[in-house]
Amino acid sequence: MISQLLDGNRRFVAEVFEREKTYFEDLAKAQKPTVLWIGCSDSRVPVDTITQTRAGEVFAHRNVGNIVATNDWNLSAVLEFSINHLNIPDIVICGHYGCGGILALDAEDGDDKYIPIWLINATKARERVDEKLRELHIDIPAEKRHQLIVEENVRLQLEHLREYPFVSRAIRGGALKVHGWVYDMGSGTLRTVTP
Ligand SMILES: [Zn+2]
Repeated sequence: MISQLLDGNRRFVAEVFEREKTYFEDLAKAQKPTVLWIGCSDSRVPVDTITQTRAGEVFAHRNVGNIVATNDWNLSAVLEFSINHLNIPDIVICGHYGCGGILALDAEDGDDKYIPIWLINATKARERVDEKLRELHIDIPAEKRHQLIVEENVRLQLEHLREYPFVSRAIRGGALKVHGWVYDMGSGTLRTVTP
């Protein structure tokens, strides 16, 4: 697999880079992405492929479960750079059905040390969905419940995003919009999550 990556890069240089040389030369001088994508690390949700965007268009941050944690210095730096330096006007938080991170919210105690700690930032999404289902006295298939938790997790992470003072300031000032989306791997479609 590793040699495939290097072979792929040789093909990229020969076929794509050579053909669009000016585009890549301009890109090498500066980037002007207009969207910050906060998505899951899942290999089946590659932002450039599913949105048909090119190098230079999307600034990306991906982690397990597309989580926005307010004590995450990695994401904090991404947000600060995106908003204060790149002046990015739109942030998308994109979840996806079939997310292993979200499925792991239901896992029994295992040997993993870090995944459960990380997922604490998403626990509330599962709790909210289960509470609602209890209140409504309805029983739904496990897959549907999973989809509801994926969607609720996007809403929850949007809430966490607004907890960053400079993010909420930018939203209030009209310089920034935030969007919640879900990717359906079964159909390849992106859908907006209703607030
Ligand atoms: Zn995922």
